[in-house]
Amino acid sequence: MRNRKNKSSFGVLLIMLLVVGAGLYVYFSSMFERNAPVVSLQNNGYWNLRKPLKLTLNDDSGIKSYKVIARTTSGDTELLYNQLLVPQKSINLELKAPRGSYAIKDKNMQIIVQAQDISKWNFLKGNIAQKSYKLIIDKKRPQVNIVNNSYKISRGGAALVIFNAEDEHLNDLYIESNHNKHFKAEPFYKKGYYIALIAWPVEDETFRATVVATDDAGNVTKSYVPLYLKNRKYKLSNITLSDKFLKGKIAQLAEVFNETQGVDAPLEQFKIINEDVRAKNEKLIQKITSVVPQKMLENFTMKRMYPLKDAQVVAHFGDHRKYYYHGKFISQAYHLGIDMASHAMAPIKTQNSGTVAFADDNGLYGNNLIISHGLGLYTLYGHCSSFDVSVGDKVHPREKIANTGKTGYAMGDHLHFGTLVQGIEVRPQEWMDKQWIKLNIDDIIKSAKKIIAGK
Ligand SMILES: [Zn+2]
Repeated sequence: MRNRKNKSSFGVLLIMLLVVGAGLYVYFSSMFERNAPVVSLQNNGYWNLRKPLKLTLNDDSGIKSYKVIARTTSGDTELLYNQLLVPQKSINLELKAPRGSYAIKDKNMQIIVQAQDISKWNFLKGNIAQKSYKLIIDKKRPQVNIVNNSYKISRGGAALVIFNAEDEHLNDLYIESNHNKHFKAEPFYKKGYYIALIAWPVEDETFRATVVATDDAGNVTKSYVPLYLKNRKYKLSNITLSDKFLKGKIAQLAEVFNETQGVDAPLEQFKIINEDVRAKNEKLIQKITSVVPQKMLENFTMKRMYPLKDAQVVAHFGDHRKYYYHGKFISQAYHLGIDMASHAMAPIKTQNSGTVAFADDNGLYGNNLIISHGLGLYTLYGHCSSFDVSVGDKVHPREKIANTGKTGYAMGDHLHFGTLVQGIEVRPQEWMDKQWIKLNIDDIIKSAKKIIAGK
């Protein structure tokens, strides 16, 4: 009796173990996984119906079938349907617009994605994922029209461009140069209009500018800026390095720069200063002068610049300097400003209002002052002996801002004066020329405003 009871309870226990075991197997086996496929459609809420959308399906056990439907007011269109013979854990698909959909007038489209896996879960039915995406249909490219621009641009110089750009979902707007520089544009005068200064870098042999407008749906419009290109020859100077210079100024500078610590050979010191230190200093200048305001610009005027009164120009913009020692080429650099000298510690004045963007030591430039005049135009003052202003200060026409000096890489007391457009050094001579400013800035703005107001 006792023995029989033991036997039957052993049987019950065995059955219970089997049930629990089967349960655990179903629960933990990949055959019975309970995670629905993960559906993801790469999108930002817009579709231009031209560019295929990337769709990925992922599942732990494997996908057995999927279906994609496009739903508009005119009904459903099947975009994709597939029953896989061999289930796949990861599927990458491209969604192309339904045939004939280019003619649809709908502003919205719903994309419905269904995917089913091979899991035996759900009474062998598997896990089903359904995901729906609402997309705004935008097939229209942005509209771009050049309103007015400077007639010509010189190598090393600047030009002004005023244009109109419109799109319901405008996303990005810039002027691209042939060297992949993106110039930012500033809203101008009336809604939909933009203004930008552009620059042809002195080192580049040719120049081309194109207004590029993109919208959220990825539609792109490019409009070429018609500019007459004036190539300018810049001076090439072959300079012989003297021992006096290397052991004097260079040795002095080598003591203060981190880059030349532990370097004793004068020629090596010179090379590091002329290349590495210069590149670092110019990079900082470029960063500071690349900022372009984004508020609506009503007007932009510039008075002729002459930062130093009764000064002599002692070195020009764009001089290509090649340095030699005993006939051997050592290093080279471009002089990206003009050097002006009058007397020691002469007062430097600005002729235009602006905001001080930088007032600090900057390596070769010594005490370096940079003023922002708006529209991405900056003036730079190097080798100063002292400043009258500091960062953030507003400056006004005829205000004294600094005194000349010989800080940094300077032989005698002088002002290194630079003008920059969106981080690019341009010819200061243009901004020091009343006629150039009239033709390229004032007249362009005046007639553009007439065109815009007359529309
Ligand atoms: Zn200079």
